Amino acid sequence: MEKRNIVIGGAWPYANSSLHLGHIAGLISGDVLARYYRLKGDNVMYVSGSDCHGTPITERAKKEGKEPSEIANQYHEEFYKMFQDLNFSYDLYSKTATDYHKEKVKELVRKLYDNGYIYEKIEPQAYCEHCNKFLSDREIKLTCPVCKEETKGDQCDNCLHVPTVDELKKGYCIECGNKTIEKDNKNLYIKLSAFQKQIEEHTAKVNHEWRINAQNETNKYLKQGLLDRAVTRDLTWGVDVPVDGYEAKKLYVWIDAVLRLCYRYNESM
Ligand SMILES: [Zn+2]
Ligand SMILES: [Zn+2]
Repeated sequence: MEKRNIVIGGAWPYANSSLHLGHIAGLISGDVLARYYRLKGDNVMYVSGSDCHGTPITERAKKEGKEPSEIANQYHEEFYKMFQDLNFSYDLYSKTATDYHKEKVKELVRKLYDNGYIYEKIEPQAYCEHCNKFLSDREIKLTCPVCKEETKGDQCDNCLHVPTVDELKKGYCIECGNKTIEKDNKNLYIKLSAFQKQIEEHTAKVNHEWRINAQNETNKYLKQGLLDRAVTRDLTWGVDVPVDGYEAKKLYVWIDAVLRLCYRYNESM
């Protein structure tokens, strides 16, 4: 039988705290698959790595009085050793803080920008006049309108409600406790709306292989109509934005991390 090329991307753990049994339970199926296909004689590429950017890491660093890079490295080393001890069979376990990863992400984002799929938009965003900075959803605290518990703006830890744009306007700065104001901010957005038809067609072809909750979640977003999403953030930790005028911002971790898989394997070559 002809050898097939099998790519398996293990979910990349966030390098902001130790892994627990739940992480391993979620990851082990990838390892079983990799071993299965290798035994069958296929060409297997089983890759993953530590997700080193994003606000959970900067928050942790701040709390411990360390640099974000120290936190990311500390947990990356811990994960690396743990996967070795547990005998995971990754062909490559790397991290997003390598120069190679950063250069490749910038190259791809620049290409999307040059082709018009990433564009600039100015929109009002929550701002703290006391801390002099724009706040991301998770840097805002508010009383959850559903369960009335105090929660962060990205999602209620208690009831999982995701606050709406209007609800966030009633929020406070998590750091200093002052009321936030609205201020115009420029960011780069990815034109997801331009891919609605292609993603619908692709989903229709492959979604019978997905779990029901993955199908439902995908259909929900497609039915609502895909929205363009900001891919830059007012942060100092992350991959640089390869566009002039964005020197004070970084790329959002979700566009940085998911671009990784396609390049990661080349790092070892
Ligand atoms: Zn503040
Ligand atoms: Zn709630």
